[in-house]
Amino acid sequence: VERTLALIKPDAINTADEIETILLNHGFAILQKRRVTLTAEQCSDFYSEHYGKKFFPSLVAFMTSAPIVAMVLTKENAIQQWRELIGPTNSIVAKETYPDSIRALFGTNEQKNAVHGSDSAVSAEREIRFFFPNCIVE
Ligand code: ATP
Repeated sequence: VERTLALIKPDAINTADEIETILLNHGFAILQKRRVTLTAEQCSDFYSEHYGKKFFPSLVAFMTSAPIVAMVLTKENAIQQWRELIGPTNSIVAKETYPDSIRALFGTNEQKNAVHGSDSAVSAEREIRFFFPNCIVE
Protein backbone atom coordinates (compact mmCIF):
# COMPACT_ATOMS: atom_id res chain seq x y z
CA VAL A 1 0.00 0.00 0.00
CA GLU A 2 1.06 3.57 -0.75
CA ARG A 3 0.87 6.69 1.43
CA THR A 4 -0.17 10.21 0.56
CA LEU A 5 -0.55 13.47 2.44
CA ALA A 6 -4.03 14.97 2.55
CA LEU A 7 -4.95 18.37 3.92
CA ILE A 8 -8.40 19.62 4.82
CA LYS A 9 -8.00 23.34 4.20
CA PRO A 10 -9.41 26.27 6.26
CA ASP A 11 -12.51 26.68 4.07
CA ALA A 12 -13.55 23.07 4.77
CA ILE A 13 -12.51 22.74 8.41
CA ASN A 14 -16.16 22.74 9.55
CA THR A 15 -16.92 19.84 7.22
CA ALA A 16 -13.84 17.80 8.19
CA ASP A 17 -15.96 14.96 9.64
CA GLU A 18 -17.99 14.63 6.44
CA ILE A 19 -14.83 14.58 4.31
CA GLU A 20 -13.31 11.91 6.57
CA THR A 21 -16.42 9.77 6.23
CA ILE A 22 -16.22 10.03 2.43
CA LEU A 23 -12.56 9.05 2.27
CA LEU A 24 -13.05 6.11 4.65
CA ASN A 25 -15.99 4.95 2.50
CA HIS A 26 -13.64 5.04 -0.50
CA GLY A 27 -11.25 2.59 1.13
CA PHE A 28 -8.62 4.98 2.47
CA ALA A 29 -7.26 4.40 5.98
CA ILE A 30 -6.07 7.30 8.16
CA LEU A 31 -2.61 6.39 9.47
CA GLN A 32 -1.92 9.71 11.19
CA LYS A 33 -3.98 12.83 11.79
CA ARG A 34 -3.15 16.24 13.19
CA ARG A 35 -5.07 19.49 13.47
CA VAL A 36 -2.80 22.53 13.17
CA THR A 37 -2.89 26.24 12.40
CA LEU A 38 0.03 27.05 10.10
CA THR A 39 2.19 30.13 10.55
CA ALA A 40 2.95 32.16 7.41
CA GLU A 41 6.51 30.85 7.54
CA GLN A 42 5.43 27.19 7.74
CA CYS A 43 2.91 27.71 4.95
CA SER A 44 5.48 29.43 2.69
CA ASP A 45 7.80 26.49 3.29
CA PHE A 46 5.10 23.93 2.47
CA TYR A 47 4.14 25.77 -0.75
CA SER A 48 7.71 26.89 -1.65
CA GLU A 49 7.27 25.63 -5.24
CA HIS A 50 4.71 28.41 -5.76
CA TYR A 51 6.89 31.20 -4.32
CA GLY A 52 6.89 34.22 -6.64
CA LYS A 53 3.57 33.36 -8.30
CA LYS A 54 0.85 36.01 -8.36
CA PHE A 55 -1.45 34.00 -6.10
CA PHE A 56 1.23 33.13 -3.51
CA PRO A 57 0.54 35.90 -0.92
CA SER A 58 -3.18 35.26 -1.12
CA LEU A 59 -2.61 31.49 -0.83
CA VAL A 60 -0.56 31.98 2.36
CA ALA A 61 -3.20 34.32 3.83
CA PHE A 62 -5.91 31.75 3.08
CA MET A 63 -4.02 28.73 4.38
CA THR A 64 -3.13 30.45 7.68
CA SER A 65 -6.61 31.90 8.26
CA ALA A 66 -7.92 28.94 10.31
CA PRO A 67 -6.90 25.45 11.40
CA ILE A 68 -6.29 22.69 8.89
CA VAL A 69 -6.30 18.91 9.29
CA ALA A 70 -3.28 17.01 7.99
CA MET A 71 -3.63 13.26 7.42
CA VAL A 72 -1.45 10.46 6.17
CA LEU A 73 -3.75 8.31 4.03
CA THR A 74 -2.99 4.78 2.92
CA LYS A 75 -4.52 2.73 0.15
CA GLU A 76 -3.31 0.87 -2.90
CA ASN A 77 -2.24 3.56 -5.38
CA ALA A 78 -3.17 6.18 -2.74
CA ILE A 79 -1.54 9.20 -4.42
CA GLN A 80 -3.44 8.87 -7.69
CA GLN A 81 -6.62 7.57 -6.04
CA TRP A 82 -6.79 10.54 -3.64
CA ARG A 83 -6.20 13.04 -6.47
CA GLU A 84 -9.02 11.41 -8.42
CA LEU A 85 -11.40 11.57 -5.45
CA ILE A 86 -10.64 15.25 -4.75
CA GLY A 87 -11.05 16.33 -8.39
CA PRO A 88 -9.64 19.27 -10.36
CA THR A 89 -7.77 22.09 -8.57
CA ASN A 90 -10.43 24.69 -9.36
CA SER A 91 -13.67 23.86 -7.50
CA ILE A 92 -15.71 25.73 -10.15
CA VAL A 93 -14.31 23.38 -12.81
CA ALA A 94 -14.80 20.42 -10.45
CA LYS A 95 -18.52 21.24 -10.05
CA GLU A 96 -18.89 21.26 -13.86
CA THR A 97 -16.80 18.19 -14.70
CA TYR A 98 -16.73 15.95 -11.63
CA PRO A 99 -19.69 16.87 -9.37
CA ASP A 100 -19.09 13.96 -6.96
CA SER A 101 -15.53 15.03 -6.18
CA ILE A 102 -14.60 16.47 -2.79
CA ARG A 103 -13.53 19.78 -4.33
CA ALA A 104 -16.89 20.03 -6.12
CA LEU A 105 -18.84 19.21 -2.96
CA PHE A 106 -16.91 21.27 -0.40
CA GLY A 107 -14.85 23.89 -2.31
CA THR A 108 -15.71 27.25 -3.85
CA ASN A 109 -13.15 28.39 -6.44
CA GLU A 110 -9.55 28.04 -7.62
CA GLN A 111 -8.17 28.98 -4.19
CA LYS A 112 -10.81 27.81 -1.72
CA ASN A 113 -10.80 24.20 -2.89
CA ALA A 114 -11.30 22.34 0.42
CA VAL A 115 -8.46 19.82 0.22
CA HIS A 116 -4.93 19.09 -0.91
CA GLY A 117 -3.29 15.91 -2.15
CA SER A 118 0.35 15.12 -2.86
CA ASP A 119 1.03 15.01 -6.61
CA SER A 120 3.87 12.43 -6.69
CA ALA A 121 5.75 9.92 -4.56
CA VAL A 122 8.54 12.44 -4.02
CA SER A 123 6.18 15.20 -2.85
CA ALA A 124 4.19 12.72 -0.71
CA GLU A 125 7.35 11.77 1.16
CA ARG A 126 8.36 15.41 1.65
CA GLU A 127 4.87 16.50 2.70
CA ILE A 128 4.39 13.59 5.14
CA ARG A 129 7.71 14.47 6.79
CA PHE A 130 6.68 18.12 6.89
CA PHE A 131 3.61 17.42 9.04
CA PHE A 132 4.73 14.18 10.71
CA PRO A 133 8.50 14.34 11.21
CA ASN A 134 8.44 11.19 13.34
CA CYS A 135 6.51 9.14 10.81
CA ILE A 136 8.50 6.10 9.71
CA VAL A 137 8.54 5.72 5.93
CA GLU A 138 9.88 2.30 5.05
P1 ATP B 1 -0.60 20.34 -7.50
O1 ATP B 1 0.37 20.59 -6.40
O2 ATP B 1 -0.48 18.96 -8.01
O3 ATP B 1 -0.57 21.31 -8.64
P2 ATP B 1 -3.13 21.46 -6.50
O4 ATP B 1 -4.30 20.95 -7.23
O5 ATP B 1 -3.31 21.59 -5.02
O6 ATP B 1 -2.04 20.43 -6.80
P3 ATP B 1 -1.48 23.77 -7.15
O7 ATP B 1 -1.40 24.25 -8.53
O8 ATP B 1 -0.30 23.07 -6.56
O9 ATP B 1 -2.80 22.88 -7.06
O10 ATP B 1 -1.82 25.01 -6.25
C1 ATP B 1 -1.72 24.92 -4.86
C2 ATP B 1 -2.91 25.61 -4.26
O11 ATP B 1 -2.86 27.02 -4.55
C3 ATP B 1 -4.26 25.17 -4.85
O12 ATP B 1 -4.74 24.01 -4.27
C4 ATP B 1 -5.13 26.39 -4.57
O13 ATP B 1 -5.57 26.43 -3.22
C5 ATP B 1 -4.16 27.54 -4.79
N1 ATP B 1 -4.19 28.02 -6.18
C6 ATP B 1 -3.74 27.41 -7.28
N2 ATP B 1 -3.91 28.15 -8.38
C7 ATP B 1 -4.48 29.31 -7.96
C8 ATP B 1 -4.89 30.49 -8.61
N3 ATP B 1 -4.75 30.67 -9.92
N4 ATP B 1 -5.44 31.47 -7.84
C9 ATP B 1 -5.58 31.32 -6.51
N5 ATP B 1 -5.20 30.22 -5.84
C10 ATP B 1 -4.66 29.23 -6.54
